[in-house]
Amino acid sequence: MERIVIKVGTSTVCHKNGAPDLRRIDALCRVIADLKNENYEIVLVTSGAIGVGTNKMGLRKRPKSMAGRQAAAAIGQCELMSIYDRFLLSYGCLSGQILLTKDITEDAKGRKNVIATFEALLKRHAIPIVNENDSVATEEIVYGDNDTLSAVVACFVKADLLIILSDIDGLYDKDPSADPNAQLISLVKDISKLNITATESKSEHGTGGMITKLHAAEIAGANGINTFLASGKNPAILYSIMDNSAKGTLFLAGGNHEND
Ligand code: GLU
Repeated sequence: MERIVIKVGTSTVCHKNGAPDLRRIDALCRVIADLKNENYEIVLVTSGAIGVGTNKMGLRKRPKSMAGRQAAAAIGQCELMSIYDRFLLSYGCLSGQILLTKDITEDAKGRKNVIATFEALLKRHAIPIVNENDSVATEEIVYGDNDTLSAVVACFVKADLLIILSDIDGLYDKDPSADPNAQLISLVKDISKLNITATESKSEHGTGGMITKLHAAEIAGANGINTFLASGKNPAILYSIMDNSAKGTLFLAGGNHEND
């Protein structure tokens, strides 16, 4: 049985105005349920709480104040989870929410408890759905981006693979939005030897850019976990990732140079 952590960004699960992209979330839940039917164990790390909450409060931009963003996250997380729960249930899957903060994951006892909860959910065939607890996390203890959080989660559950689905279809040697000659790098054997200039996020609601994705691949890799970065536009790409035919970038874990 393979254990997969899938991370989806705000740009994958939300429309530009922050409202939930129901068609895409539905498609994602359907594929996840189907992969579960094939005996994969899946953990989903999802962003989108602040985007969904901002939209639901009738705001066009995410609130500037910390408390405002925390309120948006509180409203949005509730909505987001309810959507996942309903779609997954319609495909026969149980789900359970795990909201994490950095201080808990960095505390030995907190970490032990969280890992036990993951294991208990997976044992009961439920899909753990994870986000940062944005409504209580303060600046000093915040991950801030779910790319990093997804790598931490992948380490907690000893995943076989971390998949990051994003609005970009992989790592390029140059910024593809600025340079039409940019080439997709399909395999990164050693992330420490990468020689590219990674960019920060440009989207209104999400916070992760390429920098945080590389950081996530580094954390996962240091713990023996490969990372695959691909576009989340069509969630059916998850099937191709499982049979090694997907467009994207595979980051091999340290010392895992099976393609040498
Ligand atoms: N936790 C944030 C949210 O749910 C997203 C962080 C990120 O964009 O990575 O809105």
